[in-house]
Amino acid sequence: MSFDETTPPLLAIDGLHKSFGATKVLDDFNLTLHSGEMLSLLGPSGCGKTTLLRLIAGLEQADQGMISLDGSAVDGGRAWVRPEGRHVGMVFQDWALFPHLDVAGNVGYGVPRRQRAVEVTKTLELVNLPGMQSRTPDTLSGGQQQRVALARALAPKPTVLLLDEPFSNLDAALRRDVRTEVRELLRDAEMTAVFVTHDREEALVLGDRVAVMNAGRIVQTGTPAQIYQHPATPWAAAFVGAVSLYPAVAAGDVAEADFGPIPLLDSARGPVEVAVRPENVDLRAGDGEHVVDNYEYRGPDAMVTVASPTGVLLHARVSGMNSLALGDRVSPVYSGPPAAAFTRPEAGS
Ligand code: ATP
Repeated sequence: MSFDETTPPLLAIDGLHKSFGATKVLDDFNLTLHSGEMLSLLGPSGCGKTTLLRLIAGLEQADQGMISLDGSAVDGGRAWVRPEGRHVGMVFQDWALFPHLDVAGNVGYGVPRRQRAVEVTKTLELVNLPGMQSRTPDTLSGGQQQRVALARALAPKPTVLLLDEPFSNLDAALRRDVRTEVRELLRDAEMTAVFVTHDREEALVLGDRVAVMNAGRIVQTGTPAQIYQHPATPWAAAFVGAVSLYPAVAAGDVAEADFGPIPLLDSARGPVEVAVRPENVDLRAGDGEHVVDNYEYRGPDAMVTVASPTGVLLHARVSGMNSLALGDRVSPVYSGPPAAAFTRPEAGS
């Protein structure tokens, strides 16, 4: 990580509320971002991600709460700083390049005239498009257009860069290449960035920190590994990756499931459901009590769902070289790191 958490945050959002008519979109939303940090904001469609970015950029005004940039309030209390005074860059879902301007015109759009040519040249080099100044957007590939959009947001040297699902227009293979490239590029530029996505893999790859959001609130923030391995709620566990919430009985640092013990991250007692990731389950072929209920071959691996004698489903990711088939009897074994456990809903009632 290239940022220093002991310094004051560059972006601070405190108790933010925003509604559109009767629709409450942000509900007591809090977030901080440090200089040089890349934060992935991950949440389902409609949870308020774009609205949050628009509030940070000054394209919407908060109903309540405060947004501060670099130590100064820009929205909230009596403060209101117009978008052009905030030094916030935005890259949109559809890139929104100006079709009638060439690449130089697009990239230099927000740069003062005197520095324009120099900044355009430097920024195009940064995004690996040197010498492309006079091309028009319609002559560029999707990946190149995406980089021009990024260059246009970077050229005015924003304090914070906001990216709203910037790769959703690209096909899957290009998307993976471009996101790696963009991550390196933003790291090299020591950019502070908020990256919005509903794609969990993208959020984990791109963020120094990930904020998981649902229904206008943050559910959990943490490093990608914390978010994946130590989810705060059953919902977050399922949203961030494939998981089985498997019933077990906890006795301290271990929970006993019907197929054997599972080590726990946090000590617990009594009925729990354990967040079991499929890659942490081995299936031993033979005369086990679990039966293969579903089998999806995916090339290098296969996702196998097995059913317990009482009908509880458990997902396992196994090598694509296995010879399992529907109806086979297997014995699952937990083989991963300590897992998160949640008190079972019925146990509390
Ligand atoms: P997606 O991932 O689908 O882009 P999102 O998380 O970015 O979704 P938002 O675009 O922030 O979600 O929208 C959140 C909610 O606010 C939705 O219910 C949306 O319909 C509503 N909304 C957003 N902008 C407005 C507006 N200007 N007027 C009325 N409702 C709005």
